[in-house]
Amino acid sequence: MSDSLPRIIVLATGGTIAGASGNPGSSAQYQAATVPVGALLQAVPPLQRVARVEAEQVAQVDSKDMSFALWSALAARIAHWSAQPDVAGIVITHGTDTLEETAMFLHLTQPCPIPVVLTAAMRPSTSLSADGPLNLLDAVRVAAHADARGKGVLVVINQQIHAARDVAKTHTSAVDAFVSASGGPLGFVQDDYVRFARAPLPRVAILPLPSAWPLVEIVASYAEPGRVMVDALVAAGVRGIVVAAAGNGSVHEGLGAALADAARQGVAVVRSSRTGAGHVALPAPARAAPGGFASALDLNPYKARVLLLLLLAADPSLGTDPARLQARLGAY
Ligand code: ASP
Repeated sequence: MSDSLPRIIVLATGGTIAGASGNPGSSAQYQAATVPVGALLQAVPPLQRVARVEAEQVAQVDSKDMSFALWSALAARIAHWSAQPDVAGIVITHGTDTLEETAMFLHLTQPCPIPVVLTAAMRPSTSLSADGPLNLLDAVRVAAHADARGKGVLVVINQQIHAARDVAKTHTSAVDAFVSASGGPLGFVQDDYVRFARAPLPRVAILPLPSAWPLVEIVASYAEPGRVMVDALVAAGVRGIVVAAAGNGSVHEGLGAALADAARQGVAVVRSSRTGAGHVALPAPARAAPGGFASALDLNPYKARVLLLLLLAADPSLGTDPARLQARLGAY
């Protein structure tokens, strides 16, 4: 390893990339988040040609159990390492299940003076054809690459580079599970060739890290939904509700009536689509009409929830001003 190589920090959080199984033939029966980051790095000898890699085990969790506390811890470690003048980039290893949410949180909150790149694996480290080692190597390659600077938070997986805002997991087990439905990936990695074909959407600003996290939940619209969940959320003090709406943001009239009551009490209601792709049309002028609630545009319900969490933490009265809410949703 040469001193002239870029210094890259790997922050490990667990996931299937750190998963192991007693049965090497299996890619489905395993325990996530068991292999320490040192062992993950040792399994990728070519890393030594690419960068001076240092690692920190920030957590060891299955990402289904992601928490606000871990998001805050990650943000603190990114701030710490970004402030070191000789650190060229940061890689975060993560579980695939909620990677799109953590990526969105970091996209919204991190200034990114250096590249921040998330990676993951669909198969555990002990699997035949494990995808983790190549994904980790590719993530380090991108984090160390000059063209990754100024592109915000990135996700590198399956030889593709995605914008953190856009990417989502779309398959339970395939190695090509991650898709950016709106505009496709930003670029690709093939061995040492890192190529960006397009730039991410520009970020207008970054949002502050919350000191307290407002209650923001997701409800879905489907055949004959009851209003019981919305009413229970309002009784529990919910500040924001994202609706996983049908099609182009359509909300069942019964659910719409419950949401209109919630909105009249100052709850920020945002429609996203459960389809997995496309933009949700902007609201009709009458907010009380079903379908008249704010639009999450092309954000899926989980990403829209992260944005609404951070927007409401910064501006708790947003639910009382639909026009301002819509403008803020469109700014990130
Ligand atoms: N349950 C795992 C996780 O999200 C799945 C994975 O990483 O692929 O941590």
